Amino acid sequence: MDKISIIVPCWNEEAALPIYYKEMSRIMGQMDAEFELIFVDDGSADKTLEEMKKLHEIDARCRYLSFSRNFGKEAAIYAGLTHAEGDYIAVMDVDLQDPPSLLPEMYRILKEEDYDSVATRRSTRAGEPVIRSFLARQFYHFINKISKTEIVDGARDYRLMNRKMADAVLQMSEYNRFSKGIFGWVGFKTKWLDFENVERSAGETKWSVWKLFRYSLEGITGFSVVPLALASVLGILFCGLSALVILVIIIRTLVWGDPVSGWPSMACIVFMVSGVQLLCLGILGQYLSKTYLETKHRPIYLLRESSEEGETHADHKR
Ligand code: UDP
Ligand code: MG
Repeated sequence: MDKISIIVPCWNEEAALPIYYKEMSRIMGQMDAEFELIFVDDGSADKTLEEMKKLHEIDARCRYLSFSRNFGKEAAIYAGLTHAEGDYIAVMDVDLQDPPSLLPEMYRILKEEDYDSVATRRSTRAGEPVIRSFLARQFYHFINKISKTEIVDGARDYRLMNRKMADAVLQMSEYNRFSKGIFGWVGFKTKWLDFENVERSAGETKWSVWKLFRYSLEGITGFSVVPLALASVLGILFCGLSALVILVIIIRTLVWGDPVSGWPSMACIVFMVSGVQLLCLGILGQYLSKTYLETKHRPIYLLRESSEEGETHADHKR
């Protein structure tokens, strides 16, 4: 019988965990497969870990990994992948916004059709603040323009994949992780399922607009180097423009003489050009900082404790 590993990142989710387990048990009961639920406690400050321990006690299929601090959802997914033993591996949120009821269909597709992974996409963003969905749409539009890796709008991290694809994702051991890009980058045959947005079962979203903005920068710097070329393009543009302006000024002086004037326009030009230079420096800085962090080879996550004995300390496989 196949074993399905389900990776569930949790950060302060004491309220959502029991609800999730109840729903998931129902689904596991319907499916003809073995299961392991790998709960990853991403440095929660509430009773999330206690809840996980309770589940581990009543159901041996529940395992848990607990981080030494909050490392982020991406790190939690990576930790889950390194520990998953299944033939098929799923990533799923704990708040039931990734409906477990889709799992039987996803499993059937992988078994019967020629796909390596089944991913999910929200067909609507109903229930989300208007500004947030607007910004999200702009981001996907922009990143797909400048990146060769396809990053699907509305894609959730919720997907079921086979061993081959999971091992490929594990090989991408970069520190700055952007899963939506990583799943696209490794390729493999992926089928997309659409579903309608579901509201959170309990608790609150962990993503503020600022956090999402930083995450989007992660995506851009991780999967495109086009912004780096911006400096050169602007440089060429400005050189051309200045040649033209010089020509105009020379001719104007020769024909009409040169009364001293025009300092406001001069001030504007100085502001604009220095603005552009700072912008380009900033872009360089973004890439440099990412490179800097990668070269440190810091572990992606650190475990404080886990349901597995003998791996309580500094467990990081990079
Ligand atoms: N999460 C996490 N670490 C974080 C942020 C979020 O493990 O730093 C988990 C969270 O517990 C949840 C999932 O990632 O299971 C998705 O988070 P959330 O529901 O807040 O995001 P949204 O659905 O609003 O995009
Ligand atoms: Mg959610």
